[in-house]
Amino acid sequence: MNNKFDITIIGNGLLGSTLAFYLSKQGYKVCIIGANYSHKNKYFSSHQDETRIVRTFHHNNEYWQDLAKESFDILKNISLENPNLFKEVPVKYLFKDGISYDNPYLIKNDSYRYNYMDTFGGILNPILYINYMNDHAINLGASLVVDDVVSINYKNETYISNGDFGEIKSEWLIDSRGIHGVTENNNNEFIIGKVAMFFKLTDTKNHSSFAFIDEITESKLINDFYGICYYKNQFGKSISKISFTETTPIVLEPNAVSNWFNGAFHEHPILNDAVTLVLSKFPNFKLADLKPCAFVKTTDGKPSVTVENKLLRINGCNGMLAKAVIAFSKNIINRYFS
Ligand SMILES: Cc1cc2nc3c(=O)[nH]c(=O)nc-3n(C[C@H](O)[C@H](O)[C@H](O)COP(=O)(O)OP(=O)(O)OC[C@H]3O[C@@H](n4cnc5c(N)ncnc54)[C@H](O)[C@@H]3O)c2cc1C
Repeated sequence: MNNKFDITIIGNGLLGSTLAFYLSKQGYKVCIIGANYSHKNKYFSSHQDETRIVRTFHHNNEYWQDLAKESFDILKNISLENPNLFKEVPVKYLFKDGISYDNPYLIKNDSYRYNYMDTFGGILNPILYINYMNDHAINLGASLVVDDVVSINYKNETYISNGDFGEIKSEWLIDSRGIHGVTENNNNEFIIGKVAMFFKLTDTKNHSSFAFIDEITESKLINDFYGICYYKNQFGKSISKISFTETTPIVLEPNAVSNWFNGAFHEHPILNDAVTLVLSKFPNFKLADLKPCAFVKTTDGKPSVTVENKLLRINGCNGMLAKAVIAFSKNIINRYFS
């Protein structure tokens, strides 16, 4: 492999893979270097399961809502080619009383117990999505290195990324390492530790898949549950995945990330309460699995994007990226690479 590129992208997650594809489409010579999940028992990522909710409606946050709506149509087109990558399903919202919403995409009084339904919602499989973006980028001439970058040097206006793969040189460097891109001294970005709960269903007759956001009034510790009910996992089993938003989220120091993924997540202080609450709401559920997760939040709720000497650093997608990644990536490219 020739080791000189226009752009090196570090991190082959939702963001890095999308940027690699669209930059290759613009004619740039791109190298994407990405560690696999748990590479060296260290490089965990926030995308490692089969389901992410895509919703076009996000109350109180027009920034993400507009990006999500724009991404939705492109995802639908991609799903014509690869139906397992993105499936349209209703996203149901149960809001606390007394809040009014004015959104053309919502239908009141959905038949289930939810108050509103996002008719333009769906489920994205992040792993298939990344594979799709990688394949298309490679077809356009991009190179993919599955490994970690250990160090970066900047000399004579050239970035040199180093690792077991050798040296990769480029004029531009894009840092999209997700939780691994957050440093100790960054006051604007926080790593939030999460746990996803997986439940088996004892009765799957009469059910179809839907995603949901459910505000919780009966708990002082949990603001909402969000998840996907009744999707089929890779073994064809009906399963539900539910995560929760804590009233006081767990903030992880960057050096605690590996521990979290390697088992510390079991100590999440309100995990037992969350499981108990779910089981009380859904009597035909049985707890099947717990998985560690984490993502980056910023103080203003928008991603932090900085550029210096052709080093573009992007982070802090606030748990929103899956639904908005295509429009967000295109905006970045229009701004810096047109
Ligand atoms: C429980 C949970 C539920 C979520 N639900 C939703 C949802 O329903 N809808 C939604 O829109 N979003 C959701 N999100 C958020 C979304 O999944 C994340 O925002 C998104 O995956 C972040 O993507 P990323 O590309 O920035 O980072 P990542 O996906 O973490 O990718 C970064 C990549 O960089 C690699 N890497 C790190 N360091 C190096 C290195 N030195 N060298 C090479 N590679 C490196 C990592 O291995 C990783 O693969 C959820 C997140 C969590 C945790």
